[in-house]
Amino acid sequence: MTVGGCCFQPVRTEHHGEEHVVYALREILAQAQAAGSAIGHFNVADLVLLKAVFASARDLKVPVLVGASEGEREFIGTRQLAALVKSLREEFEFPIFLNADHTHSLAKAVDAVKAGFDAVVFDLSALPFEQNVRQTREAVEALKGINPSVLVEGEIGDIGTGSEIHTQAPDLSRGLTTPDDARRFVESTGIDILAPAVGNMHGMLETMVHGETRKRLDVERIRDVKAAARVLLTLHGGSGTDDDDLRKAIAAGINIVHINTELRVAWRRGLEDGLAKKPKEVVPYRILPAAVDAVREVTSSRLKLFSDGGKALVGVSSGARR
Ligand SMILES: [Zn+2]
Repeated sequence: MTVGGCCFQPVRTEHHGEEHVVYALREILAQAQAAGSAIGHFNVADLVLLKAVFASARDLKVPVLVGASEGEREFIGTRQLAALVKSLREEFEFPIFLNADHTHSLAKAVDAVKAGFDAVVFDLSALPFEQNVRQTREAVEALKGINPSVLVEGEIGDIGTGSEIHTQAPDLSRGLTTPDDARRFVESTGIDILAPAVGNMHGMLETMVHGETRKRLDVERIRDVKAAARVLLTLHGGSGTDDDDLRKAIAAGINIVHINTELRVAWRRGLEDGLAKKPKEVVPYRILPAAVDAVREVTSSRLKLFSDGGKALVGVSSGARR
């Protein structure tokens, strides 16, 4: 199945005489970069969110990254989430991948890689730069020792914490990533992906939830960081960002865009709607579809934006038969 002028190519393998389709995150990211588009990364903490993310990606025929932070993994179960995502990838022969978002200890990163996660965000950005470099380099070695094809993302600069509604904007101006720091960090750690601070911020302000204000990105800085770092770049804290800035950021070198708070807001609204519409209902699968639909609206809108950032509508070429 192909949409538009470009498509994502799986690797076909034979196993017991049957042909299987295998996708690798590294190749999918390279193909998206060549097409001028980015991969959407959406956090999940339950099956409602996972169903919504997968449904919109399948519908639009674009690859997708599912993420879970340490807290989200603790709630849903690290191995359980890995099994769910693997089952979707295999049953539908679809390029859906799993990322261990914001992991602050090597032990938890090891757990995720052993469970089968495709990527890990090893986040020691709160530590002094040299300490961040040293420990991230050790983590890259240890994690690739377990699975050589796992992608490790490192983080520098300050983009705030907490994918939730904040009452005040933190002052992040002094934590912006410089091209020089980006190059030094990438060269001395061996990371595959860099998460820079380029005007992005975790969480949303109340005014952003209502659409009165938008986050603005430093597109020039993204371009300079990309030229210096020469690796894949992730934009964290993408919720509530100006659409045009997101398009420009992707054109400037962003490969993965994280959206979490917008999903959480939609999840809550959808759940409240579902409960309000059926005040006497107790059957979960009659209430929860309202939440799935509300989240799906957000994921579809973001995936469309990310995949036509380079004006190239990209599609999944797969044996998806269902
Ligand atoms: Zn993040």
